Amino acid sequence: MLLDILLIFHLQVLVIASSSSSEEDGSSEREAEHSKGSSHQHHWGYHDQESWLSAFEDCSGKSQSPINIDTHTVPYDPKLALLKLEGYDLTGSTTLKLINNGHTLQLSLPSSMRILRGFDHVYVAAQLHFHWGTKEVPGSEHTIDNVHYPAEIHVVHFNTKYANLAEAASKADGLAVLGGFIGIGLHDNDNYEKILSALTDISIEESDTEIPGFNVRHLLPDSLDRFYRYNGSLTTPPCFQTVSWTVFNDSIRVSRRQLADLEDTLKTEHNKLLSKNFRAQQLLHGRKVLASFHTEPATGKTKSLPTETEDSIIMESSGHILAIVFGALFAVTVLVFSVYTYQQRKKYSKFKKDSKQNVIYKPAVVDMDQTSLTVT
Ligand SMILES: [Zn+2]
Repeated sequence: MLLDILLIFHLQVLVIASSSSSEEDGSSEREAEHSKGSSHQHHWGYHDQESWLSAFEDCSGKSQSPINIDTHTVPYDPKLALLKLEGYDLTGSTTLKLINNGHTLQLSLPSSMRILRGFDHVYVAAQLHFHWGTKEVPGSEHTIDNVHYPAEIHVVHFNTKYANLAEAASKADGLAVLGGFIGIGLHDNDNYEKILSALTDISIEESDTEIPGFNVRHLLPDSLDRFYRYNGSLTTPPCFQTVSWTVFNDSIRVSRRQLADLEDTLKTEHNKLLSKNFRAQQLLHGRKVLASFHTEPATGKTKSLPTETEDSIIMESSGHILAIVFGALFAVTVLVFSVYTYQQRKKYSKFKKDSKQNVIYKPAVVDMDQTSLTVT
């Protein structure tokens, strides 16, 4: 009996320790664990993702993230409810904690921020963080048709039916993460600058600072209505398969300089540069990815039958092609005929000239035949 209690206690400690080592987790648990001293779970890194599989059971599961999203096969699901966010418009009266935890750049979020609609339950925000690469290697975690974006933002929420993130993290319906792709634009993004301008203050691993609140909604794409949805996992150990993923189709843009700040400022353990903090693609294993919108415009390619308009366009264009072919054939025929006529006339006139000047000369039979051809 005592042994059982000890075993259960031990398991719980393990779960709490491993979940708090996750970047998808809240900062308070992490700090508690950090102050106790680092556990072995804390030492996972992106350079050796294979070792996650043996150290964390769930990392070799069949519902892992990130994945590639193949837009050609993703079906439109009209039943997907559009998201309604609440409380994202923070003001300067709130202060937010910005952390370099050695794995990512993370911003703690207040519980007033919620996903009010879009799921069966209300989900409350806990933190947001980023994944990126280097100047040479784009570092988004998800890919669209096997293409990486330069970076990706994740806003982590937990189901309000659970007391906190740590408790929700291991429950099947525990987490909802919003993912947005970050691309390069011509101009600085003022909203991202509110975070990026503080990077130099937290370049050392396990350091943090505070920044004034701002409208966090502006870190996400303009349209939240076009998204992909699938069931997946935390993309860091312990890889719990408890995330309902929403990956937005539209991307966000920051300037090249801002992206470089993200890629080149933060340090991880042994004062190494914190970059390429993205996990490799995971297999779908039969999972369905759904889209809240028609991923392909109705061009009559593969998925939908051509409409009347498209039919008439096809007819019209084939009519044009026929006209061009016949026109070209006619032009070639006229050209060949003209050249031939010209040559024969030349020969005929030469023959006439020759027969006048030199009566002894007798033209060959072939020439005579050809002349007759021209005449007739
Ligand atoms: Zn993430």
